[in-house]
Parts: sequence; C-alpha cells; structure tokens
Amino acid sequence: WEMRVADTTSGQRIVHLIDQTAHDAAERMRVDFVANASHELRTPLASILGFIETLGDEAGEDAEIRARFLKVMFDEARRMQRLVEDLISLSRIEADKYRQPAQPVDMAELVDHVWEEFLDSGSPRADDIGCELAEDLPPIAGDRAQLSQMLHNLIGNAMKYGKAETPVRVRLDRDGPMLRLSVADRGEGIAASHLPRLTERFYRVDSGRSRSIGGTGLGLAIVKHIVERHRGKLEIASEVGVGTTVTVRLPALKTPEKNASESSVTK
Ligand code: ADP
Repeated sequence: WEMRVADTTSGQRIVHLIDQTAHDAAERMRVDFVANASHELRTPLASILGFIETLGDEAGEDAEIRARFLKVMFDEARRMQRLVEDLISLSRIEADKYRQPAQPVDMAELVDHVWEEFLDSGSPRADDIGCELAEDLPPIAGDRAQLSQMLHNLIGNAMKYGKAETPVRVRLDRDGPMLRLSVADRGEGIAASHLPRLTERFYRVDSGRSRSIGGTGLGLAIVKHIVERHRGKLEIASEVGVGTTVTVRLPALKTPEKNASESSVTK
C-alpha cells in the first residue's frame, strides 16, 4: 500500500491509501517483457555479426564457406524479422484493446480462405489439414485481419507440433450464441502443468525445439489477445502423446431462424 496525505484549505486532512500490488505486477510484466524481447533479438544479431566478421577474414574467400555462412545469416535475419513482426502485431492488438471490432466477418469463408493459403504455401503438411464447416453460420463482429492471424497461428502450431502425416482437424460450428472453432492435432501433446502458462509471452514448453522450427514464443499470446478483443473464450486441452485441441468461442452477430449446426459439409 502507498499512503498519500493531503491537507485541505478548510484544515481537514485527507489520507489516500493506494493499492500498489496491481500496479507493481503490471510494471514487473512490462520489464520482463522488454528484457525477454531484447534477449530474443540479441542472440540472432550476435550470430549475424559473428558471421560477418568471419567472412571478412580468409574464410570469406572460400566460395563454399561463404554460401554456407550467408544461408545461416539469412535464417537468423528471418528469425529476427518474424519476431519483430509478432512484436508489432502484439502491440497493435493491445492498442486496439478497448475498441470493439465491428466488421461482420463470415468465419466459414475465412477458415476456407486461410486453408487455401496453407494449401498454396507448399508446406509438406498442408495436405493433412481437413476442414469441417457447419453451413449457414451467422457472421461475427470482428476484425478480419486479426481473425486470419489467429487461424494462421493455431493451424501453424498444429502443423508444427503435430506428428508428420497425421491429420490436423479444423472444425467450425455453433454452440448456442457462440461460434465454436477448434483446431486439433495428433502430436506430442502438452503436460497439464504447462497449460496455464502457454499464452504468456515467450513461454515455451521446449525452447530449443520451438526456436529450431521457427517459433517466436508469441503465437499463443497473440491468439489470446485477439480472442479477448473479440469478447471470446480460449480453451486448450491436451494429452501427452495423443495431441492437442485448441477451442475458440466467439459471439455470433445474430441468430438465424434455423439451427445451423444440424447440417455440415466435410472437406
Ligand atoms: P511458438 O512460437 O514457440 O510456437 P506459441 O506461443 O505459439 O509459440 O506456443 C507456445 C508453446 O506452446 C510452444 O513453444 C509449444 O511448446 C507449445 N504448443 C503450442 N501449440 C502446441 C501444439 N499444438 N502442440 C504441442 N505444443 C504446442
């Protein structure tokens, strides 16, 4: 507690007791975040500088070594770029926190669109994605670009952490007044003790593995902020050795007369 005392002109004394706990926790989180982000950027940067220095020595005269070093430098620079892009996304979403998104978004069309993007990306796992979309779903009030990013992060994780050649199932249907989206993989799963911390910035179950497959550690933090901005709910259920299902519920804009979840198309 912080105590502030003020004397009024009429001779009264006013004492303010201010709860510092919430303020201190937010400040600590901010300091940790800046420290973590700087550390994440420093590592690839140091590696790039080291390679530039070596290329300046005799090693740089060997064409094969030069090509190998350039490849490593390119990968490290791409890693920094991904991280900076995720940091920018996170700060934009946070800045918009209190502005409710209002565009009507057809989620089934968006899921289909993102799925096509994965198919076109040439990823070897793209063919494993299966979509099941209920018909005649109502739109939601949303931010299409952010919802697309949410889908990319969730499907991307399912592909990264699911085992090769196992299916990734994307489902969209209705659950009362909400639309329910789920992304399920058959992969290594996540131990229950990690689940509550997964949406923290830079929290990873296995840091080495996440980095080596191109993860920034910010994907689920971004998803959480997008879901919150859309007044939705995020749930992560997982079983070690079996797989993970992430479910997002988002409030539908209006209720159509007929029950939409009764009919569905499977792709
Ligand atoms: P990253 O960029 O490391 O993938 P995320 O914020 O997207 O960061 O996820 C945080 C961590 O949660 C990951 O490092 C990984 O350990 C774990 N994780 C996320 N999605 C899955 C999944 N589908 N299966 C297993 N582990 C997952």
